[in-house]
Amino acid sequence: LGMAPNSPLVGRRNVLAWLAGGGLLAAASGCSQNSATGRNQLLLVSDTQLAEMSAQAWNELKAKTPILQDKGAQARLERIGQRVVDASGATGLNWEFVAFDNPEINAFVLPGGKVGFFRGLLETAGDDAEVAAVMGHEAGHVTARHAAERFSQQMLVNVGVTAATVLLAGELGQFADEAAAALGMGVMVGVILPYSREHELEADRLGVDLMAKAAYEPRAAVRFWTKMMEASVARGQPLELLSTHPSDGTRMTALEKHIATLL
Ligand SMILES: [Zn+2]
Repeated sequence: LGMAPNSPLVGRRNVLAWLAGGGLLAAASGCSQNSATGRNQLLLVSDTQLAEMSAQAWNELKAKTPILQDKGAQARLERIGQRVVDASGATGLNWEFVAFDNPEINAFVLPGGKVGFFRGLLETAGDDAEVAAVMGHEAGHVTARHAAERFSQQMLVNVGVTAATVLLAGELGQFADEAAAALGMGVMVGVILPYSREHELEADRLGVDLMAKAAYEPRAAVRFWTKMMEASVARGQPLELLSTHPSDGTRMTALEKHIATLL
C-alpha cells in the first residue's frame, strides 16, 4: 500500500461516501501481495468485477473497430499469444487475441486477458519473437494486475471516474480518443490515465521472463524496441506506442540488465 491520494481536493469524506456506496467494494480485496511481482498492491476491485467491465468495453471495441481480415495473421497472433499465456500460468482467464485493421503501431490489453494488436505493429515486428516481446509485455500488465491497481488508485483520487475509461487508458495512447468516442465516452477522455513508468518497466521485466519461459529469445525485446526508436526517428515524430511506452536509454538499459540475468 502506501499510495496516498494525489489530489489535495479529495477529501476523506468523498472516499467514505464511495465506500458507503458499496458497489465496487463489495468483493474488494484491499491490500494484497501480487504473486507475479512480489509487490504489495492496493486493490479495491476484484478480478471478476474488472473482467466484467472490460468485457463490455472489449465487445464494443470489436463491434466498432475494423478487424483485420487476414486469417493467417489472426492465427499467428493467437498462436503466439497462447504460448505466452501458457508460460504465464494465467490460463484461467478467457484470453482473446485480435488483430485490428489500423495502421498505428500499437497494442493493448484489457483486464481479463483481452489483447488487441494493430496491423501497424504486426507489420513492424519482424519475427514471432518480436511479436512475443509485445505479447509478453501486455500479459505482464495482466499478471501484475496493473489495471486493478491503477483503477484502485484512481478511485481514491476521483471517486466519480468512469471505470471503462480507466481500463482503456494505459496502452491506447492516441487511439484512446477513438476508442472513447466509439464507446460514447468522449467527455471522459480528459481523465484517461497512462500506466505509470513503474508499471511499464515492470511489464517489460515480466514480459521478458515470459518470453524466456515460452522459449522465445528474450533479446528480441531489445531488437523490437530499438527498431521502434529508429522508426520514430525516421518519421520525425514519436510513434504512438512510444508515447505510451517511452523507449529511452533508461528503459533499454533496464531491459538489457534484466535479460542478462536470464542468460
Ligand atoms: Zn505497457
